[in-house]
Amino acid sequence: MPLVIYDYNKCTGDASCADVCPVDILEGSENERWCKPIDDEVENQEAINQYYDKVNDSEEQVDVIIENEMPECVECLSCEAACPHEAISIEPS
Ligand code: SF4
Ligand code: SF4
Repeated sequence: MPLVIYDYNKCTGDASCADVCPVDILEGSENERWCKPIDDEVENQEAINQYYDKVNDSEEQVDVIIENEMPECVECLSCEAACPHEAISIEPS
């Protein structure tokens, strides 16, 4: 299964990654500070927990890297190419 990996020490929340994803599995956070996977699209619950525990409510950079197992990712790498800060990467299945 592909891994969608966010580095929250680099992400600025501009949402370029979510805008280009052809299968719409990424979204901006409610506070518009981050991007994240859509919760229902993530297979490993611990990744969701990690995001809400350490990242969601923060306004500052967070030294956390989260590996999300996302079965619907088609591994097009568009998000990687669109990100201006190398904050998202894909590990193909
Ligand atoms: S494009 Fe990069 S910096 Fe922008 S929200 Fe996505 S991961 Fe974060
Ligand atoms: S690799 Fe493609 S399908 Fe997968 S999250 Fe990135 S933009 Fe979406």
